[in-house]
Amino acid sequence: MTDAPPSRAEQHFPLLGPPRLSRAVVDRAEPLRLDAERLAAGWAKAQVVVVDEQGRTPLRALTGAGRATEYEVATKAGVEFGASPPEGASLLGEHEGVAYWAVRGRPSLIAGDDPSQWQDLRNRGADLDAMSAGLVTTAVAVLNWHDGAGFCANCGSATERRNSGWARHCPNCGREEYPRTDPAVICLVHDGGSGESAQVLLARQPVWPPGRFSVLAGFVEAGESLEACVRREVEEEVGVVVSDIRYLASQAWPFPRSIMIGFSAVADPEQPIVPADGEIEEAFWVTRATLRAALVEGDWAAPDGPLLLPGPVSIARTMLEAWAAAH
Ligand SMILES: [Zn+2]
Repeated sequence: MTDAPPSRAEQHFPLLGPPRLSRAVVDRAEPLRLDAERLAAGWAKAQVVVVDEQGRTPLRALTGAGRATEYEVATKAGVEFGASPPEGASLLGEHEGVAYWAVRGRPSLIAGDDPSQWQDLRNRGADLDAMSAGLVTTAVAVLNWHDGAGFCANCGSATERRNSGWARHCPNCGREEYPRTDPAVICLVHDGGSGESAQVLLARQPVWPPGRFSVLAGFVEAGESLEACVRREVEEEVGVVVSDIRYLASQAWPFPRSIMIGFSAVADPEQPIVPADGEIEEAFWVTRATLRAALVEGDWAAPDGPLLLPGPVSIARTMLEAWAAAH
């Protein structure tokens, strides 16, 4: 009917796969958390994910011909911890009749353990198999929550663990608390264009090493919708007004307790970029051709030096790879 190019709002891009920490296999098995009889019966073959205070857990390499190295979490048999789940254990879920639990621990406390095998999600999360990715992400998240929930927010009394680690109860005032997650939005701002000359907005925070760039992100404020947060954060951080805000995907980011909620939005690259003092060191538009080259090269040369993209475990990387692959 018309030869007019599609409007900016019509350029969408699908993700190539889920964010790496959003992969999960184990059933969270909520009813099991309250089923003391079945939990006790299942302990004999239960498996335990041990996480230290730095978020590290023992991993085992799964190497195979013709594929990159993948890792799985090296779980421990529940019976190594005693006749029943130890104090502080949280039930992660159940898979093929096996219950999986999380506990805090240290390499030195586990016989035969090699401390060098203990690695964290930031370093190895993207290389975990799907089942391990879900188990370790949930373990780190729920254990982090317990670390900060020991006292009642209402009356200050010490709280008690309930529901196999999925609630805390105040014995003094009766208040219940459940694991908390702080929402943060992350937004890939693009120009709505197509082809290799389409552009995406990248920015660098002052605390990042020189050359490292990513898309924009920020915490959701009390009373704020996710869409309003996207508009506000982008405008605050770089002075750019966006439209056509679309949800892409989300990923838990338990450092210590966030969830990153990914969006795309469209902006006019002719708008002046005004980096926020103290929050953004610099920001600029790059073309799809340049981003594709950067993803292939690992890093790339800009007029002022090398630029690095976020690592594969981040949802930012998932979003940038999807946009780079679009036409
Ligand atoms: Zn209380």
